[in-house]
Amino acid sequence: MSLIPPSDEQGLGQGYHSPQVDVDVRLNTNESPLPPPAAWVEELQAEVGRIPFHRYPDRDATELRAAIGDLHGVEPGQVFCANGSNEVLQTLLLTYGGPGRTAAVFEPTYALHGHICRLTRTAVAEGERNDDFTLDLVEVKRVLSEHRPAVTFLCSPNNPTGRVEPRDVVAHVLELAPGLVVVDEAYGQFAAWSALSLMGEGRPVVVVRTFSKTWSMAAARLGYLVGPAELVSELEKRALPYHLDAMKQAAGRLALRHRAEMDARVAALVEERGRLAAALGEMDVDTWPSEANFILFRPRRAGGDQVWRALLDRSVLIRNCSSWPRLDGCLRVTVGTPEENSAFLAALAQALA
Ligand SMILES: *Cc1c(COP(=O)(O)O)cnc(C)c1O
Repeated sequence: MSLIPPSDEQGLGQGYHSPQVDVDVRLNTNESPLPPPAAWVEELQAEVGRIPFHRYPDRDATELRAAIGDLHGVEPGQVFCANGSNEVLQTLLLTYGGPGRTAAVFEPTYALHGHICRLTRTAVAEGERNDDFTLDLVEVKRVLSEHRPAVTFLCSPNNPTGRVEPRDVVAHVLELAPGLVVVDEAYGQFAAWSALSLMGEGRPVVVVRTFSKTWSMAAARLGYLVGPAELVSELEKRALPYHLDAMKQAAGRLALRHRAEMDARVAALVEERGRLAAALGEMDVDTWPSEANFILFRPRRAGGDQVWRALLDRSVLIRNCSSWPRLDGCLRVTVGTPEENSAFLAALAQALA
């Protein structure tokens, strides 16, 4: 038999990769530059000692969902948790996408949206953004009426461009969309508003969040969505039994006790983002305004690939988007600690010289 899977016909190519290279300054995957609070580590260690490991975990993740429900002021039944928000997206597409159905994305956006569509055999309708990466409602209308997507993806703040979608734009997309609207808010803590405020009244919108970024827990692999309770029940039917292990459930629940510290970290990152943006503004690069913990920029004279390599030679790793469609020559840097950001700026000044 041939071991080339039929899914390769979907054009998965090399799959989804962000190089994991050993460097001094790692600013390529938008994680928090700081580990979780020490108190959280202690609480988790104590909690792990109490887990009955010979038993399956709480299949309904009751306490974790209640804690997330409290955070957002919704019922636990409106919360679906999974192994990273990527698994949330996969479960959404297993439920509402699949063969014969289409999902709409507006490029450039998070590459995983299209990738998980292909994994689940969901057709992808690609809409274009304006040159400044804002959403064009005329284009949105065209894509939605031409393709009648079962799922429409938005990402706010949008990765890799950094912009928050304005509230009236998302509300408008909700009115136009024939199916479910998924708002990926992986960087939602950095935004001035959340699509959570558009939920209710039977509106077909879900908001996806993650513990991987602001919550400093990328290694734990935990994400969730908030949406209508009927939708959450449908997703639960498609998730594998006991997919959320007991350690992860405890990790997420305990993290939510440290909200004040996380808010302070977001504020500190926003300040550093301002410093980075100002410094980039003085250099020979174009930048786009960001309301997240990363900044997209494009060297004006040097090639993006060449600058990315020159940074790597100086042990600074950022994201190389320079060969991605619509992002010709672009690079994306994650906001790190003040020391990491200064190291990046110094290396970039040399790389551009
Ligand atoms: C980082 C990121 C995620 C996070 O995925 P996890 O599986 O939760 O780690 C989701 N969406 C976007 C847009 C991201 O940038």
